[in-house]
Amino acid sequence: MADEETAPGFPLRRAAHARDLLELDSALVACRACPRLVAWREEVGRVRRRAYREWEYWARPVPGFGPADASLAIVGLAPAAHGGNRTGRAFTGDPSGDVLYAALHALGLASRPSAVRRDDGLELYGVRISMPVHCAPPDNTPTVTERDTCRPWLARELELLRPTLRAVVVLGGFGWQALLPVLAHAGLRLPRPRPRFGHGAEVLLPDLAGGRGLHLVGCYHPSRRNVSTGILTPAMLGEVLARAAGLAGLR
Ligand code: SF4
Repeated sequence: MADEETAPGFPLRRAAHARDLLELDSALVACRACPRLVAWREEVGRVRRRAYREWEYWARPVPGFGPADASLAIVGLAPAAHGGNRTGRAFTGDPSGDVLYAALHALGLASRPSAVRRDDGLELYGVRISMPVHCAPPDNTPTVTERDTCRPWLARELELLRPTLRAVVVLGGFGWQALLPVLAHAGLRLPRPRPRFGHGAEVLLPDLAGGRGLHLVGCYHPSRRNVSTGILTPAMLGEVLARAAGLAGLR
């Protein structure tokens, strides 16, 4: 089994067979298809940051978080080494999550304004958070190969959400670039030239099969650097999330 999980084709094989998000997540957390990321996530969990000495780090792939019938998806980049990689839940236990969950709570889309640990009782309402790369990368920078290897997990997740999904907010240019081929594969028509990432960028992607289209919305990533330099303020984040929630029928 361990050999299967380390094979580069493991995500593609396993994701395609997942019948629901529970099956998808349980296959995902066993994935070891990217040797560099597996080594990094486990080393971070072994060495630990002084403030988290007492923690048992998750040190595995971090699954998406939120209900299976979400109408709004939020797609980030990858788990933070001492955030999601420590706690095992997206944007949980790191400064980006503090900003993101406060904004979601202010809009009535989260039960609490903060996310501390996996069992803190936080619930999302109509929103699912995920990422194109599910393991923490060194310097928050996955390689193109790692991004492409991980793609089947997000592709299947969005496919399973598709019956209820109305809008996707993408946090940052990396997620935007990673998501476009996933959306094309899911049967959505991408305009040419390809839509460019920008804060507040918005495009409605028609469904090639005649179904309901999907709104794609860009937003700067609430990274510590973006927030501390004022590139992204809580008000800017709140405005984009409110707009997307409206497009998703949540407000
Ligand atoms: Fe698997 Fe994705 Fe982690 Fe690579 S980044 S090991 S494909 S879960």
